[in-house]
Amino acid sequence: MITVETLFSGSSGNCTLIRTEKTAVLVDAGKNCKAVCTSLEALGMSLSDLSAVFVTHEHRDHISALDVMMRRHFMPIHVTSLSAPELCRGRSAAAAAQVHQGLLYEEQVGDLTVRSFPLPHDSAGHVGYVFVSADGDTAGVATDMGYATMDAYNNLRRCRTVVLESNHDLDMLRLGPYPFPLKQRILSRFGHLSNVDCAGLCCGLAADDTERIILAHLSHENNTPRAAFETVRAVLDQNGHQNTALSVAKRDLPGSMEDFCVQTQQEWICREASAAL
Ligand SMILES: [Zn+2]
Ligand SMILES: [Zn+2]
Repeated sequence: MITVETLFSGSSGNCTLIRTEKTAVLVDAGKNCKAVCTSLEALGMSLSDLSAVFVTHEHRDHISALDVMMRRHFMPIHVTSLSAPELCRGRSAAAAAQVHQGLLYEEQVGDLTVRSFPLPHDSAGHVGYVFVSADGDTAGVATDMGYATMDAYNNLRRCRTVVLESNHDLDMLRLGPYPFPLKQRILSRFGHLSNVDCAGLCCGLAADDTERIILAHLSHENNTPRAAFETVRAVLDQNGHQNTALSVAKRDLPGSMEDFCVQTQQEWICREASAAL
């Protein structure tokens, strides 16, 4: 059986723990080594329990902890050969030797088989991952994608658990403070997946084998956990997928949540106002 836990998630840093009883690996390692270690400790683990890190792409929110992690614990870092130069830049030969690269790859790590698949994003290279355990359980991770490709769907559709990007609410992005070129970049086919587009992909996955979906990589400025959850939940429910478990990855802590009573400043004000009545 595969357990999937996000350690932290969002535009400030991403890290997901995938583990069986025998094997533990990370997908990405953003923020810094201390944040990764603190999150692992909260789950009763340490760096030395990890067998590998699978990197999706070279953007800082996915790799910024690796520099120190690679010095503290020797383990294979798997990454596409297009993203690898950024990881290897300025490293010693010994550190660079930890970096395993390929265009697309399938690796056996303990009792986990790990397969990469391409995703559309404005990085040098970019992949999602599918994990299959020796006992036949499956999980997938796909974030940072401009649109939901058939390839992504075909790779994720047999996964029991999926971590999926739900980056922005379209109205919050369009009306928000970001400069126009940045809005265009996020909305492009090599940008990030909106809540609505994520909901469409979730419906396809729920119609196949996916039982549990964790929404991830939410924008701090252009989304709220509640907006992402309610958008996807509504579309799943409208399409008869009430039994699909849905949660939202926490931004700075391990785990995901389903309760959004008090998420925004405005809601705090509303709650205080109603409490005062
Ligand atoms: Zn990115
Ligand atoms: Zn990212």
